Amino acid sequence: MNWQQQAEERQNELLADLQALVQINSVLDESTMTEEVPFGNGPLEALNWMLEQGKAQDMKVKNMANKVGYIEMGEGEEMVGILCHVDVVPAGSDWVHAPFGAEIEDGKLFGRGAIDDKGPTMAAWLAMKMVKDAGVKLDRRVRMIIGSDEETGFRCVEHYFANEEMPTLGFAPDADFPIINAEKGIAVLEFNQAPAASENEQLVSFKAGHRTNMVPDYAEAVLTDVPQSTEMIFHAFLSNAQLQGEYTEIGDTIKISIKGKSAHAMEPNAGVNAAVKLAQFLNVILTTEHAKQFVNFVVTAFANETRGHALKLNFNDEISGDTTLNAGVVSYTPQTGGKVEVSMRYSVTYPYADKIAAVAQVLPTLGFTLAVTENSEPHHVDANSELIQKLSKVYERNTGEQAELLAIGGGTYARELDNGVAFGMLFPGEPDIAHQADEFVVIENLIKAAAIYADAIIELATKEEV
Ligand SMILES: [Zn+2]
Repeated sequence: MNWQQQAEERQNELLADLQALVQINSVLDESTMTEEVPFGNGPLEALNWMLEQGKAQDMKVKNMANKVGYIEMGEGEEMVGILCHVDVVPAGSDWVHAPFGAEIEDGKLFGRGAIDDKGPTMAAWLAMKMVKDAGVKLDRRVRMIIGSDEETGFRCVEHYFANEEMPTLGFAPDADFPIINAEKGIAVLEFNQAPAASENEQLVSFKAGHRTNMVPDYAEAVLTDVPQSTEMIFHAFLSNAQLQGEYTEIGDTIKISIKGKSAHAMEPNAGVNAAVKLAQFLNVILTTEHAKQFVNFVVTAFANETRGHALKLNFNDEISGDTTLNAGVVSYTPQTGGKVEVSMRYSVTYPYADKIAAVAQVLPTLGFTLAVTENSEPHHVDANSELIQKLSKVYERNTGEQAELLAIGGGTYARELDNGVAFGMLFPGEPDIAHQADEFVVIENLIKAAAIYADAIIELATKEEV
């Protein structure tokens, strides 16, 4: 079957459908949220629109509590899952094109959700229709599972997997080609210091960062009772470290701030952690015990590198590389003590229990305790599995490129599947403009992806001869 040619012939249909879907503003909408409409009107409208497409094709359709739904075709005990989502992040500002206009220009379709994840969803949907129309006999059912809360907490797929059948194998067209078969574990570690015994601390407050999954790009501290020379030492520190910052006297306190550089927690080395830099400076200045213990902890644990060696949390494996630590939210007052919230992206084969026990032994000497507040386990599908072997073959056959297996520190929708990977539809070397202004999808790539997905559906839904 020449899927590429068939997809090309159905380009108008694909684009008209995608335009209709992009034009539904499906951002989580608290103002219209009710028990019956759990994520607001927009996400539900997009979900229902999608399910209507399935009904029009005489496929089996189910809406589950207005959170998630599916469209299924074919027969068989086993099932191939395709995991997509139709909700989007807010448009934000600085768009040239209308965020929900779905304008087509220069071979691209612009709009929020064009690449994340409405474009890939419609490419996979065209693939399902092409396979159906070709009348190919399949051994497994094919089910597209459509979430409407991927961007705001996965409550959609959590509802699905708590109540419905887990696919035998599947893919999520919600990330990159070729194939992402390893996703690190993601844990949020909270390091806490007890409150100060006395009120006479030089550090009145310290704060940096809003989210554990970002490198903080700004940190500020309020000081009292520090020597006159502090201002001079601060400016010398800034120029030495090539950083920008401010020093302001407010009454008998001093406020200092440092600018860093933001980056995603999956590679903290891509940013400059402002909290760590500010702590490094304060570590030289402060003499009161409790405040000194706080900044010393931040410096010891996070200043030299981001792989967790000082806390004995470091680990590396061949499948997924280094474990990384990002001190994303850092705060201190004498009354509350210090708090450092860390997003740890740990390797696929991480000896989790041993590592957490090891760090617990190191912490008392530093004056801190640890609480793990979130933990999403690593996700990995073996390179020799049926799923990977088949998708590799499909990718190579359709692109002429080698299907390299990728490991990432971020999490994709695929980790919700027992036996699933992220498979497209951003091709290697393409810029990732998801969540940015003027998000777009390249139309030629939509066609190419639809052809790949059709081929993949048939491969995966055909059982191997035994
Ligand atoms: Zn997405």
